[in-house]
Amino acid sequence: MTRLLETQGLTAFYGDFQALFGIDVSVDEGECVALIGSNGAGKSTFLRAITGMIPARGQDVMFAGQHIAGWAADRIHKAGMAMVPEGRRLFPSLSVEENLLIGAAGKRPGPWSLDAVYELFPDLVAKRHNPGTALSGGQQQMVAIGRALMSNPQLLLCDEISLGLAPKVIKDIYTAVPKIRAGGTAILVVEQDVGQALAVADRVYCFMEGRVTLTGTPATLTRAQIAAAYFGTTE
Ligand code: ATP
Repeated sequence: MTRLLETQGLTAFYGDFQALFGIDVSVDEGECVALIGSNGAGKSTFLRAITGMIPARGQDVMFAGQHIAGWAADRIHKAGMAMVPEGRRLFPSLSVEENLLIGAAGKRPGPWSLDAVYELFPDLVAKRHNPGTALSGGQQQMVAIGRALMSNPQLLLCDEISLGLAPKVIKDIYTAVPKIRAGGTAILVVEQDVGQALAVADRVYCFMEGRVTLTGTPATLTRAQIAAAYFGTTE
């Protein structure tokens, strides 16, 4: 396996407030890795720091063989990282198709196109000329994922993609994960549903209070270990 992303001792601050304390996380090419942990544990901050949305101060962040700490967000995007943000953030006055095409700015070579996204999420075909706001929450999430895929990322970052969605819709969205990986894209997903994270990921990192408290494969982690890492409790 070739290492795609690796952070070593990553810290991040909001002003004087330290949100992350020395995070070591790695993702291999084509791998699916999940970040779990309670609200405020630092998962979204980690995604913001590696994508250049907030500074990853002076630490080493390796992505696709390059040191990217300190790079601007658009440069990191062009290098092959694309984010599906929490809350989807579609452009409300634009159609589904226009939202998808915005994601193609700075596109790298690869398998993703409008047709490929419509094949991945057939529900969007009939809605292609509708405004993003006229969609259900699940369809909006599909557009947000499709928009990120349009740049042909090497690493897709997904922040809480199942939040607020019905179980059937969550299942439909997670059905796309193997197909995305088959196109050669690795996935780093923040998931508040631990069962879902364990079902989809090759490896899991548990965050608590800005630190990684547990990491491993779903097959090796026990419920007691996860509870302790998640809540700081012992059984
Ligand atoms: P959630 O599931 O609630 O998004 P999370 O694990 O993603 O949780 P973060 O959003 O990364 O957690 O928050 C980590 C810490 O940083 C929390 O203490 C939070 O209050 C703080 N924080 C997050 N965003 C900001 C911000 N823009 N300004 C100041 N502090 C922030």
